[in-house]
Amino acid sequence: ATSSSNGKILMATVKGDVHDIGKNIVGVVLQCNNYEVIDLGVMVHAETILQEAKEHQVDIIGLSGLITPSLDEMVHMASEMQRLGLRIPLLIGGATTSRIHTAVKIDPKYDGGVVYVPDASRAVGVAGELLSEARGEAYISAIKTEYAQLRDQREQRQTTKKTVSLQRARENGFVDDWDSYAPTVPTFLGLRIFDDYDLNELAQCIDWTPFFHAWELAGKYPKILEDAVVGEQARHLFADAKSMLKQIVEQKWLTARAVIGFFPANSFDDDILLFSDETREDVVAVLHHLRQQLVKPPERPNWCLSDFVAPVETEIPDYIGAFALTAGIGIEEHVQRFEAAHDDYDSIMLKALADRLAEAFAERMHQRVRTEFWAYSADENLTNEELIAEKYRGIRPAPGYPACPDHTEKQTLWELLQPDKNAGIEITESYAMMPAASVSGWYFSHPQSQYFGTGKIQRDQVEDYAERKNLTTEEVEKWLAPVLGYQV
Ligand code: SAH
Repeated sequence: ATSSSNGKILMATVKGDVHDIGKNIVGVVLQCNNYEVIDLGVMVHAETILQEAKEHQVDIIGLSGLITPSLDEMVHMASEMQRLGLRIPLLIGGATTSRIHTAVKIDPKYDGGVVYVPDASRAVGVAGELLSEARGEAYISAIKTEYAQLRDQREQRQTTKKTVSLQRARENGFVDDWDSYAPTVPTFLGLRIFDDYDLNELAQCIDWTPFFHAWELAGKYPKILEDAVVGEQARHLFADAKSMLKQIVEQKWLTARAVIGFFPANSFDDDILLFSDETREDVVAVLHHLRQQLVKPPERPNWCLSDFVAPVETEIPDYIGAFALTAGIGIEEHVQRFEAAHDDYDSIMLKALADRLAEAFAERMHQRVRTEFWAYSADENLTNEELIAEKYRGIRPAPGYPACPDHTEKQTLWELLQPDKNAGIEITESYAMMPAASVSGWYFSHPQSQYFGTGKIQRDQVEDYAERKNLTTEEVEKWLAPVLGYQV
């Protein structure tokens, strides 16, 4: 610590989560503004954070997370800090965190000050206010008031939102004209493994817009390069990215691996049954899905992913695909090399590029599935821009995302594909994938399949869902916390 430091800030990605690009950017920005940053890294347990906070006598604790189970862990942290009688302000950040979640779920648990920080540029101002001798307390109490108002507004809004029972929602599900539907048979059933996928091929398919978002620059590629405000910064980043990408590919810093699979499948209400073979007698797995329960406008169905697979009673031989892939094998060695040299910029750049390669891999593999492996769109011929705009038939929803928000369904995905053994991808206790630069999900081929959000789920559905998953309602509520439409 230097005597001129503005204060000490502890930062950590919470237990079960491995994503740290945003946190690392915040750390760099704080350091540039003369804060001492103690970064505990990823997957940090609450006890460790509290111990270190005490030992280093930090002024602020910053928590980060990307996947939804991390939200719960942040609530837990706040409760622990209250229980221990701490007065250290808590900063909340990361992609799935939000002002409303912070206000509704985290702030009420802790009196010592909780502030949602949407981006790194905001972090400096917030830290300055919190640690200001003159304004600190007033700032905390102003934020508390703001969050209390948000809670009130939200409660009022919720009571006016009209929902329907699960039964009514099912009656208003999407029903295809199944009699005239003949699903395409995949070119193989079971698994296919890709051990060392060509990185050069993946580099061609990168969607660059999210790369700039990772660096907290708003705008669309390629227009962002000419932007009046951030253009110059974007051009610098892009040039550095291109040069590192070249090294990644030529010197094989990373290895891309994947496993995909196709299975005979039929839906049964909101579940999807996967069969061992075409006799469709042995069920090898059941995928559990959730259905929208908000009142929909006329002619709009209450969507559920299972609706995109032919129901069992139609006896139509339908299929589903699954995938897990990564572009992050071998990244650790290089991250450590950069961190040992205190090169935060290159470390963040490498992680951001590995994420881009993983998403490009997901896009490229999906294209090959449509044209080659499942081949239901064998004649498809799209440009990279059209691929990024998803102008193709079929979807690849990912467990933990809005159409299938339950991360625990990755358990089934892992049993089917064994990505740990087949592609080097592990899942943490919160169902985050390791390496972080990994993507997994299901393939649906139905012409009308589309992404949607389940929206808030009501108690009748949660009870039904728990029964289908052979779990208690409480166990299910823990994982569905972000989509529960009622207080537990
Ligand atoms: N081109 C982007 C694509 C990322 S987001 C990139 O390079 O980052 C797209 C992926 O998120 C989809 O392929 C799907 O796997 C997932 N996804 C998006 N919306 C979803 C939803 N509503 N439900 C489930 N998964 C969704």
